[in-house]
Amino acid sequence: MNDALLSLEAIHVAYGKVEAVRGVNLALGEGQITTVIGANGAGKTTLLSAAAGLLPWSGRARYQGEDLSRMTVEDRVERGFCLVPEQRALFGDMPVLDNLLLGAFVRRRDKAYVKNSLESVFEQFPRLAERQAQLAQTLSGGERQMLAIGRALMSQPRLLLLDEPSLGLAPTIVRDVLKRVRGLRDQGVSILLVEQNARAALDVADYAYVMDTGEFVLEGKAADMASDPRVMATYLGGG
Ligand code: ATP
Repeated sequence: MNDALLSLEAIHVAYGKVEAVRGVNLALGEGQITTVIGANGAGKTTLLSAAAGLLPWSGRARYQGEDLSRMTVEDRVERGFCLVPEQRALFGDMPVLDNLLLGAFVRRRDKAYVKNSLESVFEQFPRLAERQAQLAQTLSGGERQMLAIGRALMSQPRLLLLDEPSLGLAPTIVRDVLKRVRGLRDQGVSILLVEQNARAALDVADYAYVMDTGEFVLEGKAADMASDPRVMATYLGGG
């Protein structure tokens, strides 16, 4: 796909001698939710971290048609390439509002930009507005995940890389978080969603890749993947 917003070709990532990602090809269409599903240890987080520039990798990667390997972290931020990490790296002893403001750190002097971004995040996550003075560590799991996403939205991203947003959340909360992810897609944000919860991910995604021990073993429209007997047997609890 030449017009992909993000394209990865023959990507390899290794931890010393261990190749955690082996020759992965991915094309992410603009305005879509693309998901990578797979079991524990398949290499999903490694792939996402490499794409975000946090780990060294080899292969070819392009974002907005430009060589990703030449982009600095600042270039990525400027171009709206934004990672929401799995660890939910929030500042627990800081209020919700301060955590959000950190998401707009590079543009902190642009008061109108910050005000706009904040209003838009509060519109999408009214709970964060209600709890803006509360310390992040006292939020529920679902609220923390919303804060992590909200903080990323403060940078007005064009591409959001989401690492396991469902981790540790109750099923109803997972549905709520992913519904909001779909809402972001509907507003034009492109999303790369890495998930162990295959059912929930396939439910919201447009396109899906199935990862197994460092390689993509299947890919297709999310709806087709959800009814594929191989996916059902291995990742959807036998259907
Ligand atoms: P999970 O869903 O459990 O997060 P994952 O699909 O994201 O799994 P990764 O975390 O990417 O998988 O791990 C892929 C492989 O790389 C695993 O075998 C893991 O043990 C290994 N690995 C991950 N991080 C490191 C590291 N820092 N050093 C060495 N090996 C690592």
